[in-house]
Amino acid sequence: MERKKNLAIIGGGITGASIAYHLAKSDRFEITIFDDPAGKRATTVAAGMLAPVTEVNFGEENLSTFMIQAAEYFASIARTFEEQYKFDIGYRNTGTITVSLTEKDRKDLERYVNLYRRLGLSVTEHDGSEAQRIEPLLSPQVNYGITTEIDQQVDNRALFDSLRRINSRLGVSTIDRRVVKVERDRDGDFRVFDDGGENGLYHVVIVANGTSATTIEGELKEISSFIRPVKGQIIRTRHGSDHLAPGKVVRYNVDSRPGYIVTRSNGEVVIGATSEEVGFDERVKARGTFDLLHDAIRVVPMVGEYAIEEINVGFRPASDDNLPILGEIRENLWVALGSYRHGILLSMFIGKKVAEAIASEQTLVEGFEIFAPSRFVGEIQSPVTIK
Ligand SMILES: Cc1cc2nc3c(=O)[nH]c(=O)nc-3n(C[C@H](O)[C@H](O)[C@H](O)COP(=O)(O)OP(=O)(O)OC[C@H]3O[C@@H](n4cnc5c(N)ncnc54)[C@H](O)[C@@H]3O)c2cc1C
Repeated sequence: MERKKNLAIIGGGITGASIAYHLAKSDRFEITIFDDPAGKRATTVAAGMLAPVTEVNFGEENLSTFMIQAAEYFASIARTFEEQYKFDIGYRNTGTITVSLTEKDRKDLERYVNLYRRLGLSVTEHDGSEAQRIEPLLSPQVNYGITTEIDQQVDNRALFDSLRRINSRLGVSTIDRRVVKVERDRDGDFRVFDDGGENGLYHVVIVANGTSATTIEGELKEISSFIRPVKGQIIRTRHGSDHLAPGKVVRYNVDSRPGYIVTRSNGEVVIGATSEEVGFDERVKARGTFDLLHDAIRVVPMVGEYAIEEINVGFRPASDDNLPILGEIRENLWVALGSYRHGILLSMFIGKKVAEAIASEQTLVEGFEIFAPSRFVGEIQSPVTIK
């Protein structure tokens, strides 16, 4: 039997964990995840919407096919996790309703309806009273709405927790340390250094450390400069048995500010999220909190009765063209970065495709050519030795 090759994944968020899960099933690698316990992790801050329709944006149309494929794959993963591994990851087929309250916001939403239809994505339009019949907790001020049964949700924290437990059962090791440097030795293998010193020799390295790529020295310096953090402030509340919560995911524009309310089956209600290009500003700001609560209460007045449990800040890992960066940048050195606003939705599909490419010794992920790192760092070069 062929000896297993050592493979290191730098970053144990949802992207790294999903790649590990899919690679572990091929049984060809000894897999180690390095995960900084104090690192920035968007995975556990996110809302968990799986929204290939209502997350599509102007200028990002070429992501649409992948988002649809990712959503379809997610449904099968949810079944596997629940039936085979007995984990409830809070995958819910509730569908999504998006509403407006003013004429201006309605016009904006109608522009999106045209975009969705142009991309062949199915949505149904409703007047205000019909929208209220579908989702009775909506404010009577709602003047227009659209529904889609394609957009779903998952409890991203339950998913992540399950994935880590499954990985551990599949033999994946996790080292809770921050990688600071990656060096190549004479044979082309990688020496990985964490904050405690040198920690192993690996044949393949995959970098999936979200917004923190810039903190690693070595061959990775170049790619890091194409990733930026997009701050998101988000609130977790609980509705309690005496107050109802929306059945569907509710999305809205209030005075051109987008927002959403996501109800989990365990009583948690997530209200999100700001989107701010302010670097790594970790402060919870009064304005962001005020806007999120104000807009959510205007759309669903009942939200005012919920108990606030957490207010968090996270950083979406975005590339310069807002598309993921997936592929080999040097021989046996891979990146899986830049999932931006869709990293929960895309995680399982990215994990599957990247694992398939690595296991079959491809340099690019088949069907993912538009995400090739070469658009930022040129074509793959022969290994370079870093001293
Ligand atoms: C407010 C908010 C709401 C969101 N809502 C949604 C949503 O509803 N649906 C959706 O699909 N997406 C959503 N996203 C986006 C999604 O959360 C991200 O795209 C996704 O979590 C990125 O996952 P990742 O594993 O690539 O990065 P991360 O989750 O950021 O994980 C990176 C990991 O790498 C580790 N790390 C960093 N540097 C090092 C190092 N040097 N050595 C070792 N480990 C390191 C960190 O500790 C961390 O664990 C949201 C994001 C935010 C901020």
